[in-house]
Amino acid sequence: MRFEQYKIATELKRALDEMGFKKPTDIQYKAIRPILEGNDVLGVAQTGTGKTAAFAIPVLHKLMYVKNRPDKRQTKCLVMVPTRELALQIAKVFRELGKYTKLKITALVGGVEQEHQIEQLANGTDVLIATPGRMFDLLHQQKLDLNKTEILVLDEADLMLDYGFIKDIQDVIKFLPDYRQTLFFSATINSEIKEIAYGIVRNPIRIQISPQDPVSKNITHFVAFIEMDDKRFFLERLVVEHPESKILIFVRTKVRAERVAAAMERVKVKTLTMHSGKDQSERAEIMKAFASGEVRLLITTDLNARGVDIPNVDYVVNYDLPDEAENYVHRVGRTGRGVAKGTAYSFCAPEEKEMLKEIESYLGKPIHVLEIDKETYADTVVFTDEVNNDNWQVLLRNAEQEAAERKTKKKKR
Ligand code: ADP
Ligand code: MG
Repeated sequence: MRFEQYKIATELKRALDEMGFKKPTDIQYKAIRPILEGNDVLGVAQTGTGKTAAFAIPVLHKLMYVKNRPDKRQTKCLVMVPTRELALQIAKVFRELGKYTKLKITALVGGVEQEHQIEQLANGTDVLIATPGRMFDLLHQQKLDLNKTEILVLDEADLMLDYGFIKDIQDVIKFLPDYRQTLFFSATINSEIKEIAYGIVRNPIRIQISPQDPVSKNITHFVAFIEMDDKRFFLERLVVEHPESKILIFVRTKVRAERVAAAMERVKVKTLTMHSGKDQSERAEIMKAFASGEVRLLITTDLNARGVDIPNVDYVVNYDLPDEAENYVHRVGRTGRGVAKGTAYSFCAPEEKEMLKEIESYLGKPIHVLEIDKETYADTVVFTDEVNNDNWQVLLRNAEQEAAERKTKKKKR
């Protein structure tokens, strides 16, 4: 069924059309109706499957037709999320979808002045998307009133758990009316998440999309066995053979990110790097350039593995395997988002085979092997027209830096 045929406001249909959303994703197909009917919903679907619109569409529709409008300062729907980036991203989706409605959308996050936020709240807000810190702050100052908030959305519940926000979920309930609709969304589910979820929902409709595979069906993913030192040639080949594609490359460390970038630069391939060494404003610039497609290669550490939605990534490359099996799922989930298809390649060196086993056991199945015959392998390694101007000092310095980084990492654990 297409969105055109849905029993939702034409204002929403118009926005959906402009956004290029023609038909619902699986989770949207299953969640929209029960939410419209007023049920609590417990939705589990892999990352990138369109969970945001799965709740935003029916929530906006319902709010358009609220009969007894409470005091305008009383927020009607609260969406609680773990990070600032997610809050802003979700607010953006609500605003796009709600463009032709009169509903007011407010993001409430830390790290910015309170004054403007307090003003916005006083002017009235229909949907509030908040991170816990600032929200509780304003609740305690009585600048925020959730007494008439009849819809509570907990999004990215698994991330909430990782960030240690469990108590906040339990606490926020105390500020909401008993009679409410609760929508609980998560990319993964385990017994701990289940326990929390069942503590706050009532007779929920449970929706789980392909629980046996944590990777979305829109993503085809392969592993290729490549020696550590040859990886850059294979990356170069992929880049050169797909001149139009947007490629997100994951490496293990900050030093590796810069080194891969340097190797690409030597063969005249323009890249961006993203890691803990970049400050907040640099990060925003980098993400903007990559999102817009101005630069189509981004080399990053796991900093970018979770949650954040980057449009139209064609390929994810695990240049290095992740240190934690779960991150594999988050990384490959940066492609194949919504109804798009995506491909992920993992470059596995002999010393990473143990990690590969861990990932496969986490996935519950082996990853397809991309067989590279000897000839292709040899061709790829000479494929490059790079002038080898590495000198030993640079190599040694890199090796030392990396060893030092590994040491501090171990100490931290
Ligand atoms: P999740 O929260 O499940 O990880 P998001 O809600 O961030 O996923 O959506 C992932 C991407 O899919 C976004 O870029 C979004 O614009 C796109 N998308 C969502 N629903 C649809 C749809 N019905 N048609 C096309 N694209 C969609
Ligand atoms: Mg999401």
